Amino acid sequence: MTFARYGIVENEGGKPLVIRDLGPWTEHPTVTHDVASVVRELFDKALLPPGRRLFYFDSAGDLDEIVVDGARFVHFAPGRRCIDCGGEIERGEFRCAGCKEGDR
Ligand SMILES: [Zn+2]
Repeated sequence: MTFARYGIVENEGGKPLVIRDLGPWTEHPTVTHDVASVVRELFDKALLPPGRRLFYFDSAGDLDEIVVDGARFVHFAPGRRCIDCGGEIERGEFRCAGCKEGDR
């Protein structure tokens, strides 16, 4: 039995968690298809404290939000927006230029 393979893109306290689906999808299911186990695992690793949002780059490289309730997957939400301010972002990014500036 195989599980989705993913990498952690950003894990900063007090900010949303961002992961990326790594595949290869000939050998592993996508995060999209294995999302309940992925959420459970992140929760078990204490990476999803109450209220923390979870975003992921899917197998097509698109950013989406995985809405969770504790250890439970609730639904996917279009997440092609800055994870900090909800503003517009470039493809492949998860934070807008303005918020990146603020990070420095
Ligand atoms: Zn922003």
